[in-house]
Amino acid sequence: MERARSAHNLSPVVTAALGRLMTGGVMMGSMLKGEKDLLTLKINGAGPVHGLTVTADSKGNVKGYADKPQAMMPPNSVGKLDVGGVIGLGVLTVIKDMGLKEPYSSTIELKTGEIGDDLTYYFAASEQVPSSVALGVLMDKNNTVRQAGGFIIQLMPFTDEEVIRKLEQKLSALQPVTTLLEEGNTPEQILEFVLGDFGVEMTDTLPVQFYCNCSKKRVEKVLHSLGKKELQELIDEGKEVTLNCHFCNTDYVFTVEELKKIQKDS
Ligand SMILES: [Zn+2]
Repeated sequence: MERARSAHNLSPVVTAALGRLMTGGVMMGSMLKGEKDLLTLKINGAGPVHGLTVTADSKGNVKGYADKPQAMMPPNSVGKLDVGGVIGLGVLTVIKDMGLKEPYSSTIELKTGEIGDDLTYYFAASEQVPSSVALGVLMDKNNTVRQAGGFIIQLMPFTDEEVIRKLEQKLSALQPVTTLLEEGNTPEQILEFVLGDFGVEMTDTLPVQFYCNCSKKRVEKVLHSLGKKELQELIDEGKEVTLNCHFCNTDYVFTVEELKKIQKDS
């Protein structure tokens, strides 16, 4: 998350917003079944940040960007970064590209814009899976990311009422994720706090990272798609062309010589 913050030069409240969405996204991505499946979470809101986009694969890679990376918001009524406020009223769209002709897509209205609540509501409304989603990002005094993490707990079908009751008790007594991380707890320990009484078995672990798969070759495709005439116009202008990757904010510069070669190969 700190890599995303510095790549995009995000304001603290946008770091918290994008950080929560990226944390939710990387967990939801890891829940995809296929090797090449991709998950995209998009939020569009009336608040100052306008929109957030996150894409994750099933292998722990996640990337994302904010439409207005520098958006600001005064702290909320409890003195915290006002993620709900910077997003505002809006919608969340979940897109799962599983290599089929049409990707799965579902859009819900935001509940609070605090993201954890909204993903909880998404799972209940669109996937009919009762879930608890907790997400948190903690900033340092110098506005770098100190902690980012969370959990998604989902009920299996036909879960015993008694188990649900106990689980709700555990969750309501649980400290915020950022507090738990700040105390030095590992993800495994946090799961122990919530689920320990039920007997937890760790079946898999997966390292996660901010990762963008862009490259000059990939970006070049955009220029190829322009067609010979438009490329000729760019060449006639005699200036370098810069293309930016939204997801990681990397600039790719193409010289006039390179444009000529692309035109020849198109
Ligand atoms: Zn990129």
